[in-house]
Amino acid sequence: MSIAENIHHLEAQLQGTNCRLVAVTKTHPVELLREAYEAGARLFGENKVQEMAAKQPELPADIEWHLIGHLQTNKVKYIAPFVHTIQSVDSLKLLQEIEKQGAKNDRIINCFLQFHIADEETKTGLFSLPEAEEILQSEAYRAMHHLRITGVMGIATNTDDEAQLRREFQELRGYFEKLKASYFADAETFREISMGMSADYRLAIEEGSTLIRVGSAIFGHRNYATAAS
Ligand SMILES: *Cc1c(COP(=O)(O)O)cnc(C)c1O
Repeated sequence: MSIAENIHHLEAQLQGTNCRLVAVTKTHPVELLREAYEAGARLFGENKVQEMAAKQPELPADIEWHLIGHLQTNKVKYIAPFVHTIQSVDSLKLLQEIEKQGAKNDRIINCFLQFHIADEETKTGLFSLPEAEEILQSEAYRAMHHLRITGVMGIATNTDDEAQLRREFQELRGYFEKLKASYFADAETFREISMGMSADYRLAIEEGSTLIRVGSAIFGHRNYATAAS
């Protein structure tokens, strides 16, 4: 199947849902991103700052760029001029830097709080609900005007166990609903639940995802050895 066919197939499954597609383009050259764009994709996800910053000027300006990988504070400045959403916010320190760079660029940058939902050790450092609430209650956060928290993001365990995946997606949705009720009841902009990847997006849609992040089911397997850096 071609990139266009894959995208059309995904879009067909999203018909009638509240969920949109983020095409995860990491490691793929701009020609393939252009193909995805021609097929209708407008939300693109990258996990590395340098790669995103290199590709962005090569492609149409109406693409929404979503950063989905761990972001170091010293690299925020490279994407602050154009990034639409930083899905991988995992600390107050990072929010403070996004605020600073948003101010410098006279922009408001959308941010998702990334929660720990998988049972894998490697995903520590991400938010638990109390940690997220502590930030939302802080003076420091309330003084921020160049970013906007618009949702939550999570990466489920890499497993075939459907019941476990559903539990993890439900956990993330529960965090979203708790935060919505307590901190964003009047904020229509807080509305995104980013969950689901190539292997598990169908379950994620059923569990209330509003953004699926799909790479290999569109572009095929990634070859990290030849990836653009
Ligand atoms: C790479 C990546 C994806 C897409 O993964 P696929 O399995 O190729 O669909 C989704 N989310 C994040 C955070 C990623 O790093």
